[in-house]
Amino acid sequence: MCKHILNAQVSIRAPCCKKWFDCAECHAAVSDHQLRKTNEMVFACKKCKKAFRKDMTDYEEEDEFCPHCDNHYVLEAVTPEATLGIETEDIRVDNRVIKDDRIRTKQGPKSIFDIDGSNMMG
Ligand SMILES: [Zn+2]
Ligand SMILES: [Zn+2]
Ligand SMILES: [Zn+2]
Repeated sequence: MCKHILNAQVSIRAPCCKKWFDCAECHAAVSDHQLRKTNEMVFACKKCKKAFRKDMTDYEEEDEFCPHCDNHYVLEAVTPEATLGIETEDIRVDNRVIKDDRIRTKQGPKSIFDIDGSNMMG
């Protein structure tokens, strides 16, 4: 069971290491290399346990269903930290903005005024 995408309907066979993963993050967790992108992906339906291939260069709406059992496997990913992640990100962004403003107002204008002032006055 994949801990990244809670509603995963298929497993994906990594074309690089020929192993089955629920998502790209599962692959990254146990691999020392990037997941290789391929035009022909191999999936295994979790509902009927059958494998099938899809040409990703010619991927249409009907390809979002398992050809064996019509299981709709292309779903919006449900991730365990979806809501928490957004909240903490917002706080971090706010902190960064406040810090950046302070640095800019303290250092930026001072140095500019120092240079301009001495040039103008001198
Ligand atoms: Zn791999
Ligand atoms: Zn995963
Ligand atoms: Zn199926």
